[in-house]
Amino acid sequence: MNTTSMLERPEPVEAPALTAADRCDYCGARAWVRVTLPTGQLLFCAHHAHQHMAALREKAVSIQDDTHLLVADENSTR
Ligand SMILES: [Zn+2]
Repeated sequence: MNTTSMLERPEPVEAPALTAADRCDYCGARAWVRVTLPTGQLLFCAHHAHQHMAALREKAVSIQDDTHLLVADENSTR
């Protein structure tokens, strides 16, 4: 039997870093994760990214996760 590992291929995707102008599609907070689906793109804040990531990983073409840039910038908890 042959176990083939389905690793993500490093495809050249021109994805500029997320900026303050990018907003979560769910709550409007600053987006830190960009998910590219076959049908389009979705933006998520860290909170919603965590909430939906499991489901998104199954469908996403690519996921750009910039949450590592989110240091202690969480002053919008309300
Ligand atoms: Zn959100």
